[in-house]
Amino acid sequence: MEGTIFAIHRVSTHDGPGLRTTVFLKGCPLRCVWCHNPESWSPDPEPRLRPRDCLDCRACVAACPQRLHRFDDGQHRIDRDACAGCGACATACPTGAVELVGRRASADAIVAEVLHDRELMRRSGGGITLSGGEPLIQPEFAAAILARARDAGLHTAVETSGFAAPAVVERLLPLVDLWLLDWKAAADDHQRLTGVPRAPTERTLAILAAAGASVHLRCPLVPGINDGDAHLAGIAALARDHACIKRIELMPYHRAGVGKADEVGVGDRILAGIPGANEADHARWLAALAAAGCREGLAAVSG
Ligand code: SF4
Ligand code: SF4
Repeated sequence: MEGTIFAIHRVSTHDGPGLRTTVFLKGCPLRCVWCHNPESWSPDPEPRLRPRDCLDCRACVAACPQRLHRFDDGQHRIDRDACAGCGACATACPTGAVELVGRRASADAIVAEVLHDRELMRRSGGGITLSGGEPLIQPEFAAAILARARDAGLHTAVETSGFAAPAVVERLLPLVDLWLLDWKAAADDHQRLTGVPRAPTERTLAILAAAGASVHLRCPLVPGINDGDAHLAGIAALARDHACIKRIELMPYHRAGVGKADEVGVGDRILAGIPGANEADHARWLAALAAAGCREGLAAVSG
């Protein structure tokens, strides 16, 4: 069983309990305007270009079988629509200015790599987390990784937008110890800010609640964009009404995605000019949750 991933991060401390290895699956149906990982959007391997590292040697121009690299007025561009993701340009580049993001990998190979840190995971109460992108758009691949990790005795977690068919959620339910479910915006703002309606995420939460799953609600918050009191009160109410929600993680906006978006050719689809969240924002969010009746200690700002 093979799928497409774009990164594996070892010794992660923010994606579930203990020390974990997070596997990032490539491809996402959402288009969140604050996305931190826009290189995950395309389901296929793609070139990422860092112009500041480019020597203008044009080895990539010669290497690309489709002749997609161009230099117009001193600007290095890639005609991405016709890109086959072959990686020839990245292989030819002497500086790493162009790199191929994403690769095919087998579930067996991924779990073998994850198990290098098995002892660390065992001692810390950690495990494996699937993230993305949206891992549920490769459901059989995700299931294969999770099943193998389970067989090896690892704790399993999945970070998801919840934008998935019920059958997919139900398929993975028995393989997941902890769901990190994104809760991104008020229902009326969800389509505008993420490109999709919130109803499928609500349906996923209902499935998880009915199954008695363990859920951490992950709430990306962007000052002035999706951090109004009404949304925060909605989060508090959700936690009050769902015993399956064991924790609320507030995920402050930072600008890491802005530069990456330009590098994979989607810079025009990402928020620009918004400062990252600060301590005052964090305090305001926690106060709004408390004012809305959120149990003390349930919500925390995630690093
Ligand atoms: S990945 Fe392949 S097709 Fe795409 S720009 Fe590079 S060499 Fe050309
Ligand atoms: S091969 Fe690399 S350094 Fe040379 S022009 Fe292409 S991106 Fe720039």
